[in-house]
Amino acid sequence: MRDATYDILFEPVQIGPVQTRNRFYQVPHCTGMGHRYPRSEAAHRGMKAEGGWGVVCTQETEIHPSSDLTPANEARLWDTKDIPALQLVTEAVHAHDSLAAIQLAHNGLHVANRYTRHTPFAPSAAVVDSDDPVQARAMDKADIKAFRRWHVDAARRAKEAGFDIIYVYAGHDMTLLQHFLLERHNQRSDEYGGNFENRLRLFREVLQDTKEAVGDTCAVAVRLAVDELLGAEGLRHDVEARDIITALADEPDMWDVNLSDWSNDSQTSRFAKEGYQEDYTRFVKSVTSKPVVGVGRYTSPDTMVRLVKQGHLDLIGAARPSIADPFLPNKVKEGRLEDIRECIGCNICVSGDNTCVPMRCTQNPTVAEEWRRGWHPEVLPKASKPEQHLIVGGGPAGLEAALVLAKAGHDVTLAEASDVWGGRVSLESRLPGLAEWGRVRDWRMGQLQVMPNVQMYLGSGLSADDILDYGIANVALATGAHWRADGTGRAHRKPLAFMADASVLTPDDVMQGKLEGRQGPVVVFDDDRYYMASILAEVAAAQGNRVTFVTPASVVAPWSDHTLEQGRIQTRLIELGVEIVPLHRLAGYSEGQLSVACGYTGATRQLACKTLVSVTSRSPNDAVWRALSAREAEWADAGVESVKTIGDCHAPGLIAAAVYAGHSYGREALELAKVLREDRMLAD
Ligand code: ADP
Ligand code: SF4
Repeated sequence: MRDATYDILFEPVQIGPVQTRNRFYQVPHCTGMGHRYPRSEAAHRGMKAEGGWGVVCTQETEIHPSSDLTPANEARLWDTKDIPALQLVTEAVHAHDSLAAIQLAHNGLHVANRYTRHTPFAPSAAVVDSDDPVQARAMDKADIKAFRRWHVDAARRAKEAGFDIIYVYAGHDMTLLQHFLLERHNQRSDEYGGNFENRLRLFREVLQDTKEAVGDTCAVAVRLAVDELLGAEGLRHDVEARDIITALADEPDMWDVNLSDWSNDSQTSRFAKEGYQEDYTRFVKSVTSKPVVGVGRYTSPDTMVRLVKQGHLDLIGAARPSIADPFLPNKVKEGRLEDIRECIGCNICVSGDNTCVPMRCTQNPTVAEEWRRGWHPEVLPKASKPEQHLIVGGGPAGLEAALVLAKAGHDVTLAEASDVWGGRVSLESRLPGLAEWGRVRDWRMGQLQVMPNVQMYLGSGLSADDILDYGIANVALATGAHWRADGTGRAHRKPLAFMADASVLTPDDVMQGKLEGRQGPVVVFDDDRYYMASILAEVAAAQGNRVTFVTPASVVAPWSDHTLEQGRIQTRLIELGVEIVPLHRLAGYSEGQLSVACGYTGATRQLACKTLVSVTSRSPNDAVWRALSAREAEWADAGVESVKTIGDCHAPGLIAAAVYAGHSYGREALELAKVLREDRMLAD
């Protein structure tokens, strides 16, 4: 049973005409499913409700074709034809007695309207904020009137779709209503621009319109960014945001407050710790009597209790913690705190939305597969007869595969060559800023260690002979991968002969401490283009080296744009004094001089380099697999039925991909066993 300390989290909260069943509030967040995958979207939101979130919101929902986020998969409520898709969401949420909320959005100059070809709207004429060669036009009075009508119409459609809470949204530097509030976007000279009251006018009008239209049965919430972290250049929590909330204090039924833009709101654990928004949102309750919801990547129920008790928040908002563990509230309720699968703050979920595909999650491999593959994060089919499984390698893929199989009731043996569990996660979580990534290992270990049907062995590097000797029927090789030292990657598709002379260290070497004591200057060559090289540059700089960062890409770590980190990463390297040489490939090495070539002209330049940290690509650790496949004829006699490679050993990728691969392997093994059983029954 749960500790009474947490009872406060299960109190209902009145929000205008509706009441929540507890204080767990899944705030609006993108899923990459939206209007294009409505059943997946509904199943995902329904899972949150099943897991105990008292309120479950959609993502931003386009209210009109002039707010067309194509190719992103957000929700859409352009007209009545969009109602049935959203009804799937409300039904899925209501099936578990939770409230369904919708975040209505008009994206103003944040959209280029690539599909509808509408001219984008803005308070003042301006170029849109994507790279599209498109300009938004300044809204005239007729446009403003039309916009107000669209918002009301969308709110009515939302009510018809069954939503309980309807948002008026001014956040993330993505919405027309926020653009009207901000001086840098609003240079109007009429009653909608200029002084504070005028800039607030449209927001106030739309809030009142929405209340009038649907406020009888639906709560009307405001989502407001209270700080943009831009100092005097932007909205500040202690200046304009305080004025806005004071001016509208009790007009909405609820305030949902956060930071803007999205990269500030959803900071990764590399750059911000749990609760990083608190200093900005703490004041809100002192200027309104309405309930307040806020976020901060909260996974600790003790922190949640503190926030409520201190009068900071009434409802604990969560996007990422609810993705990593849709059942977090129920686990608190049932006193199963050790089962909470904590978000690691990596933003791989965000990358799904940013690449316009259903999201994925490092910690929760079932996410966005609730409908497509019928995966439940907590429920697995039970094995009718336990089978024997051997998993070789205790990294994220091996641990996850072992967990799925063991939970289904199979007997699992897990062998790990090194003297620690976690594989690459254990290495990488020691890098600066990545400590929370260790949760990938810790949660799985916590689960596995209490299961009687799991045998776990450290210091057990297995060979093909060992595996055949064991004779365990089902074998998964999760033996990981290692970084290449020969330069092979995207820019150089073949090994570079001169790398043999270049005093190269790979990321594996650096993570094993081999950079310490090496001679500088250090050049980090990044053709991987995500986080690793930038962190190693930080490590090298922290050791007092002169560091140059060379990359064929145009910026440092371009893929980290999808995780909202690129700006922070490049800023950090600049602040550390790292010289950045973009758009260059490797060209040669001789006596402490690295030659790099411009990716366009081929012109070379020389860089002083005593140690080259090469971050290009990885090779699977598949020696055991190759030895076993060469001896496939011996498997049956040895009692081995199947051998599969999973995770990085199959094809190196993200940690999220390794976890997903381990999970898929476990599920597919269960599915296969079921099919075989059914075949046998048919044969009988
Ligand atoms: P993944 O991300 O696919 O899980 P990792 O590299 O994180 O891959 O983990 C692979 C793990 O497998 C490492 O901890 C490594 O020590 C272990 N390993 C590699 N080869 C063997 C082997 N022959 N026997 C047992 N463990 C192995
Ligand atoms: Fe958290 Fe990473 Fe999962 Fe997103 S992908 S919910 S940040 S663990």
